[in-house]
Amino acid sequence: MPSPNVSGPPTATTVLTIDLDALAANYKLLKQRAAPAHCAAVVKADGYGLGVGPVGRTLQAAGCTRFFVAHLDEGVTLREALGGAGSTATIAVLNGLMPGQEEVFRAHDLIPVLNDLEQVARWSNECRANGPHPSILHLDTGMCRLGLPPDEQRTLFDDPQRLDGLSLAGIMSHLACADTPDHPLNRQQQSDFAAAIKRLPEVDGSLAASSGIFLGPDWHFDMVRPGVALYGVAPTPGKPNPMAPVIKLSGKIIQIRHVDAPQTVGYGATHRVTGPTLVATVAAGYADGYLRSLSGRASANIGGVTVPVVGRVSMDLITLDISNAPAAQPGDMIDLIGPHFDVDAVADAAGTIGYEILTSLGRRYQRHYVGGTA
Ligand SMILES: *Cc1c(COP(=O)(O)O)cnc(C)c1O
Repeated sequence: MPSPNVSGPPTATTVLTIDLDALAANYKLLKQRAAPAHCAAVVKADGYGLGVGPVGRTLQAAGCTRFFVAHLDEGVTLREALGGAGSTATIAVLNGLMPGQEEVFRAHDLIPVLNDLEQVARWSNECRANGPHPSILHLDTGMCRLGLPPDEQRTLFDDPQRLDGLSLAGIMSHLACADTPDHPLNRQQQSDFAAAIKRLPEVDGSLAASSGIFLGPDWHFDMVRPGVALYGVAPTPGKPNPMAPVIKLSGKIIQIRHVDAPQTVGYGATHRVTGPTLVATVAAGYADGYLRSLSGRASANIGGVTVPVVGRVSMDLITLDISNAPAAQPGDMIDLIGPHFDVDAVADAAGTIGYEILTSLGRRYQRHYVGGTA
């Protein structure tokens, strides 16, 4: 991935580089993997924190024609970003159809995901009154979160007239354990979903998100819906990551301390320096999504040398022991997320998942898009 200027623009102390060519390559890889199924893209939460405008346009240019967001507002924003009424991409809203939102779905050409029988009834009435408009039916097969629960599915399949007036663009469900390939729930959900869609044979089925794609073709059905893998996160933890890294985070050294007497570093005095040590302070902290749980656990890289984060992560700053990189100067950039320590490694160190690292990326970073269609 191309690097930003070594020291960045004079105002920038922390630079988030987002490689849109890597994003496009990841889309193409997932699409290939899932073929002949369609490959949609999930761009909720502002494109997993990377900016839904550049992300959406890049994916559209890479051939993606079907998008998913979580919130209705995100759908409205994405529709504008993709070129408004002129864009033919479909955008579905996972969180469903709340009362009073019907007009907004129509005005912005958004597809409601119908999550219970009440939503099914409301959208079917709306379509009977104002003309057909596509929707997606969501069946819960094991998440106990969104989608028609099993009793509502039975009611619906016993009385399929409830679907009259709906032009269903798809029928979907969501896997609970796809990142754990051996989990028995994967096969259970697959067979329950396969049985359910036999009841509506002419409608496209969709079950797999990023990790589900790698469970194999039985899970692909007619369309897959990856999110996190597009952005470079490993779809199957513990296995080699086939995705290209999309982000790099570099922080500028704003001060270097030469310590020669024993002393402690940072809040709580959690790190003790015993011998001669170089401590660099970099402008990124938990307010920027560099999680406090990374205190004393993360590492970074300067000029090919790995340097540990020492002491607590504070709101705006972190401290690193750069004794192994004695030539470093204030103004030099340290890679906080990069090839040596990628999103998954940062997540591991923080005791979380790549999703949370991405969607926590701060607003104070200077964002630098390279490649693609920004
Ligand atoms: C977030 C989400 C996805 C995408 O999941 P990833 O694990 O990021 O690929 C797909 N489907 C639903 C219903 C989701 O909520």
